[in-house]
Amino acid sequence: MKTIKTDVLICGGGCAGIAAALSSARRGAQTLLIERAGFSGGIITAVGLPYFDGLIDRPTGRFVVQGIAVELLVALGVAKAGAKNIDDCRPDRITKYWGSVMIPNTDEFKLLADSLISKQSDNLRVLYHSMACDVEVKDGRIAAVVVANKDGLTRIEAKQIVDCTGDADIAQWAGCPTEKMQPLMPMTMHFRIGHVNPTKETKPVATRVLMEAHKAGRLPEFYGPGLIFAFAKDEAYIHATRIAGDATDAADLSRAEMQGRADAWTMFREWKARVPGFEDSYFISSGPYIGIRESRRIVGERVLSLEDLQKTTHYDDAVATGCWFLDVHPQKTTTDKPFTGSGFQPKPYDISYRTLVPKGVSNLLVAGRCHSVSKEATASSRVTVTAMAMGEAAGCGAAIATKAQSEVALLDGVKVREALVAQNAGPFTEA
Ligand SMILES: Cc1cc2nc3c(=O)[nH]c(=O)nc-3n(C[C@H](O)[C@H](O)[C@H](O)COP(=O)(O)OP(=O)(O)OC[C@H]3O[C@@H](n4cnc5c(N)ncnc54)[C@H](O)[C@@H]3O)c2cc1C
Repeated sequence: MKTIKTDVLICGGGCAGIAAALSSARRGAQTLLIERAGFSGGIITAVGLPYFDGLIDRPTGRFVVQGIAVELLVALGVAKAGAKNIDDCRPDRITKYWGSVMIPNTDEFKLLADSLISKQSDNLRVLYHSMACDVEVKDGRIAAVVVANKDGLTRIEAKQIVDCTGDADIAQWAGCPTEKMQPLMPMTMHFRIGHVNPTKETKPVATRVLMEAHKAGRLPEFYGPGLIFAFAKDEAYIHATRIAGDATDAADLSRAEMQGRADAWTMFREWKARVPGFEDSYFISSGPYIGIRESRRIVGERVLSLEDLQKTTHYDDAVATGCWFLDVHPQKTTTDKPFTGSGFQPKPYDISYRTLVPKGVSNLLVAGRCHSVSKEATASSRVTVTAMAMGEAAGCGAAIATKAQSEVALLDGVKVREALVAQNAGPFTEA
């Protein structure tokens, strides 16, 4: 089997992974990013989600994250250079009530990621269409990650590895403790419908029509109407499908993809036939991947808990800041609001470096929605900007460990925090 050597390997080029790759390379480490899709961006580009949540403290409007997340928003024309507050964002791209920021075009994100990777080409390489599929563990370290792509199988020997797969694939295969707690939040296939002419009637009738289809057995579970005009006045972006399943089970994930596509098409057909404004509409696209809210998480050196969010626990080694409300999606049909539970709004809270450190191997960090967090608290820390902040911290830690000829598990998170502060990347729990 062919072998590639690198300082730092980032597995998964989603929200956490793209930030981790840029962060590691910009600190001078030879970095390789592998991603199973043909582009970076994860949920943003593979599912089509335009939201940058976890950036804005709702009560004050203050950005709780800086660094790469804000750099991306500036490059996409959504935030001003040096932006620190909701008022520094394009007004038509924010929803003040939620403290939510929306990018204008998810495909543009692919190009932006490509160009940032290319700018760093001296020490950052990317392999798209490359799936991490196995690991070799020796003496408490990951000796190699095995990748499958058009070259066949390749061993990648990296000094430090960051698992940004969303599902903690690398940690799981390396034998690190993980958990996957029921009920998992449902998966959602996003889709878009063009040439819609919305009226006041459109949303309420769309919900009623979906409920009738549900009751008649034509549509399984859904959230309704989940209908947003995020990209253009006549283009509906829909996040209304709701499919229970386990995304770490290949057969179940395949079933969920098929169900998601089928449900999206059912909604389109029902609306086109019966909802004012949809008469001349056409189906643009779905996916290409179904969105996965929750699957496996590591049980790491420290577990971010609901109590941490409720009490705003301070950690000296905080390397990222979260602030999103407890956004729990149920598996069953709802039509009032997409989330259930308390909807508790935490104050900006610390995410300790040790929530990125799995137990069992010394050269692996895990960033993004699969970091070490309780079932309750993941409803907040899973969002896009929080994942980017964790990714940036993990990439920084991996580069520091490489330079120091140490291991990421042995690093003092306070040092990573100091390095992040020095590069204006946060964390910014305090105003
Ligand atoms: C339907 C849905 C709606 C959501 N709505 C919002 C919202 O409105 N606002 C918000 O902020 N957040 C939202 N979220 C949550 C948020 O998008 C995710 O939790 C966030 O993407 C987490 O980032 P991540 O980097 O951990 O995972 P991802 O962005 O999913 O990235 C994981 C990447 O790893 C790659 N990968 C996976 N396995 C492998 C492997 N073995 N080898 C190589 N590559 C691999 C994937 O292709 C992907 O690119 C939503 C999530 C879903 C599913």
